[in-house]
Amino acid sequence: MIDSRRIYSISTNGDIEQAYDYSAINNQGSCIVYWMSRDQRIQDNWGLLSAQYSALQHKLPLIIICTLTPNCFDISLRQYSFMVDGLKEIQLKAHSLHIPFFLVLSNEPSIAISNFAMQYNAAAIFTDFDPLSASIFNRLKVASIVTCPVYEVDSHNIVPARFISQKVEFGAYTLRPKINRVLSEFMVDIPSPIDHPFPFLQDSPLIDFDAILSQLNVQNEIQPVQGISGGAYHAQEAFSLFVKNTLSTYHLRNDPNAKAVSGLSPWLHFGHISSQRIAYTIKDIQSEQSLSFLEELIVRKELADNYCLYADSYTDSKGFPNWAQITHSIHRHDTRDYVYTLEQFKNAETHDELWNAAQCELVYTGRMHGYMRMYWAKKILEWTHSPEEAQTIAIYLNDAYQLDGRDPNGYTGIAWSIGGVHDRAWFERPIFGKIRYMNANGCKSKFDTKQYIKHHLYRQQHSGTLF
Ligand SMILES: Cc1cc2nc3c(=O)[nH]c(=O)nc-3n(C[C@H](O)[C@H](O)[C@H](O)COP(=O)(O)OP(=O)(O)OC[C@H]3O[C@@H](n4cnc5c(N)ncnc54)[C@H](O)[C@@H]3O)c2cc1C
Repeated sequence: MIDSRRIYSISTNGDIEQAYDYSAINNQGSCIVYWMSRDQRIQDNWGLLSAQYSALQHKLPLIIICTLTPNCFDISLRQYSFMVDGLKEIQLKAHSLHIPFFLVLSNEPSIAISNFAMQYNAAAIFTDFDPLSASIFNRLKVASIVTCPVYEVDSHNIVPARFISQKVEFGAYTLRPKINRVLSEFMVDIPSPIDHPFPFLQDSPLIDFDAILSQLNVQNEIQPVQGISGGAYHAQEAFSLFVKNTLSTYHLRNDPNAKAVSGLSPWLHFGHISSQRIAYTIKDIQSEQSLSFLEELIVRKELADNYCLYADSYTDSKGFPNWAQITHSIHRHDTRDYVYTLEQFKNAETHDELWNAAQCELVYTGRMHGYMRMYWAKKILEWTHSPEEAQTIAIYLNDAYQLDGRDPNGYTGIAWSIGGVHDRAWFERPIFGKIRYMNANGCKSKFDTKQYIKHHLYRQQHSGTLF
């Protein structure tokens, strides 16, 4: 039995309520469908487990379906190819458990899923919780079309986001005690899915993922990153190496040269690894470093989901706290010493070598160190005409180049840097108003900025171009 606090039912009219009894199905149905979206893995996946539990209870076959949007210019080839690494593994593992895996290419995922569910006469659909609006829209749309129950399962958060809070939290200090009160109830080992005993009439076709990748109309100029692959296997390997070699140096996490962080965010973003599995594995390591890492992995990450789920908007200034909106309006017309265009930011053509180095790190490696992400976004605020333009540019670059982009952590991190979300008012200063300020001297006091610049700008100088 799965903890029902993770499972919500979505009614035809769009009501979302905790599913105390998620065994309800359409009795005429012939299979249970697990629509995999945010949590792309077979192991440690409460959504898949809930679907299998229901299928076993009703003696029905279980099918997994995932969609890819072929004409999606918001997604880069870099991100798609990382995701496809994971899907290849999922196909093999699903087949070994006698669970057919289907991949559907469609620019309208909700229509594709609804058609699929009707074609295969689904008795119920289980899918992943995701706080982002496009994803919520798709789930509601599917529920409004199909005739079977639709359930949403939170497999991305250790403490389910809808359960733990029903409003925007002010900051980590308000969410942390709520999480801590119930964390031990949710921090349990996760069972494995079993070989499914009720076969589906038809086998799913073997998918030629490389052919699919070549057909996608995505941002092809943002190429895959060498030296990092998606999928559960590589995620687990990266996690094991982190625990073995790096976790004990996590107190150096604010030094971008120190390589003291986990680097797990791309795999976490695509759901190739479960944050609950990570936390469960290291929960008994009682070091200061381990506790700090768990604070980021649990409180900060789950706070980002809370913000995106409940804020008026997570992509524009409507989501900023009142004090930040007021301070922005007071400083809107302050003189800027430098103003750059999106193209100049993209090409790392600012006057500031440290910022340019961070942008090069992003473009070449598909990642940027967490400390530099804050500096990077705050300087975009300083060097654009308005906070709104800064937020738009930061989201565009973050979502296009980061392997972990298009994530609640990104929208929230940018809103923190530019709009004071989850932060407090600081001393008044030009352009920033009361938004927390950062400058290159502050970075110099924390780490060897010259070394960072040398390492990341070197790539640009030697290749001659960023693209
Ligand atoms: C401007 C800006 C943009 C950001 N964009 C993204 C993004 O697109 N995708 C993304 O996943 N994170 C983003 N972050 C949050 C954070 O910087 C990254 O999660 C972290 O740097 C990833 O590196 P890591 O896996 O080595 O982190 P570690 O320090 O090893 O932490 C482990 C995990 O904890 C979570 N975590 C760590 N720091 C934060 C944080 N501040 N907020 C929320 N969760 C956190 C992540 O899931 C991370 O993988 C952004 C932050 C800022 C300030």
